[in-house]
Amino acid sequence: MPFRRRRFLAASAALAASPLFAQGLPALLPASGGRRVVIVGGGWAGLSAARRLRDLAPELDVVLLERNTVFRSAPLGNKWLAGRVDERLLTHDYAVAAKAYGYSFLRAEVTAIDREKRRVVTSLGTLDYDWLVLAVGVRDDYAPWFGDDSEAAGVARRRYPAAFVAGDEILTLKAKVESFAGGDFLMTIPPQPYRCPPAPYERACMIANRFRERGIKARIIVVDAGPGVLGFHRIFAEHYKDWITYLPQSRLTQVDLRGRRVATDFEDIAFDDAILMPPQQAGDLIWQAGLIGVDGTGKPTGWADQHPVHLHARGDERVFLVGDLMGQVSPLFGHYTKTGQAATRLGRIAAEEIAARFRGREPERQVPDSVCYVTPRLDPPELIRVETEYRLRGGEMIAQTGRQVHDRQPRGEDIQWAKGMFAEMLAWRE
Ligand SMILES: Cc1cc2nc3c(=O)[nH]c(=O)nc-3n(C[C@H](O)[C@H](O)[C@H](O)COP(=O)(O)OP(=O)(O)OC[C@H]3O[C@@H](n4cnc5c(N)ncnc54)[C@H](O)[C@@H]3O)c2cc1C
Repeated sequence: MPFRRRRFLAASAALAASPLFAQGLPALLPASGGRRVVIVGGGWAGLSAARRLRDLAPELDVVLLERNTVFRSAPLGNKWLAGRVDERLLTHDYAVAAKAYGYSFLRAEVTAIDREKRRVVTSLGTLDYDWLVLAVGVRDDYAPWFGDDSEAAGVARRRYPAAFVAGDEILTLKAKVESFAGGDFLMTIPPQPYRCPPAPYERACMIANRFRERGIKARIIVVDAGPGVLGFHRIFAEHYKDWITYLPQSRLTQVDLRGRRVATDFEDIAFDDAILMPPQQAGDLIWQAGLIGVDGTGKPTGWADQHPVHLHARGDERVFLVGDLMGQVSPLFGHYTKTGQAATRLGRIAAEEIAARFRGREPERQVPDSVCYVTPRLDPPELIRVETEYRLRGGEMIAQTGRQVHDRQPRGEDIQWAKGMFAEMLAWRE
């Protein structure tokens, strides 16, 4: 990590721990007397944790804090870009879930955590917790491209958003796909781990479909830091030969925003428009709270440092770290797959851990599972179902097995899965 940034992070962590930090801000709610769970992040993991806690321990006061006004699903988001899913299925009101399940929802950005005082600082005021669940997802890391140049990072984010972090970037991307006049459209794919590994490949296919429907002359250039996943090499070559140029194992060495060019170890590539997807890391708050892991050399891993099974922060059993922000859980395979389904399972496990501790019981040891649907083609339709199972081997060693099924006669299984998840997390009814 560049020195100046490291210093900034250390400074903000020190500031957060300072008693002066929250001075002048009102308490959002009166003290809870040993009964409050604060959940930060109303994504897949946070929503599931909130719901499950209410089921398991209704005596607990559960407060969900989220900075966005609405929940917007990234799963099915690529199909929405292609015009094949109704936006109303993907966006949801947080208040509906909070009312149905009986927890408090506050729209607020959490800016700092004082773990010594067990207090979160938000844009509206402070809130004390007995247990804290951090489910803030990921952030884009532009430092490998631009170092400390936050202005360049801001320009890249505004003009060429990755649209992989919860929020409105996907709206900019949709407008881009609809208004692109033709030419070279660049997509970069970062090294793993990042959320939902097949999603960028699916996105390239969905955008190619949309360009084809719009009748424009365009080429999507996919510059991939890795070797590719799920046979997309073949899918691109067989079904998108005239639309997608795929460059695997291509590490970006330079990103020139003004000149609209990128360089890899092998070539220079000019573009007319782009989705620039930088590497990902755990969200800002995990850095601010000093909960990022370090590797054997003392360098930050970029991801949260949690117990692999019980999910609490190392050294702080009052804080749980769940969802895509999590660091490595097993030397056998590294990270849990960063999917919505895995995040919901992890949110539930954290809720069960907290409920057990609240009742003075030993929590059960549990692991998540994951299912992910990927659409490589629309006409004729094709769906890939990716299943990942985890199991505990011996003590706390977690093993992973996976399976992929290519379905050439899908019947909307992806939509059914999403509806089931929205019903469970968001009290959504058709
Ligand atoms: C294009 C795309 C397609 C995908 N397709 C699939 C799929 O088909 N199936 C699947 O299972 N998964 C899929 N995924 C992955 C899935 O979206 C993620 O795994 C899931 O969102 C992770 O949930 P999370 O709760 O960890 O993070 P998020 O869903 O990102 O939630 C984090 C929340 O925290 C909030 N937050 C962050 N910081 C703060 C703060 N300081 N204060 C208050 N709130 C804060 C954010 O606004 C956000 O709402 C896809 C992802 C993408 C990008």
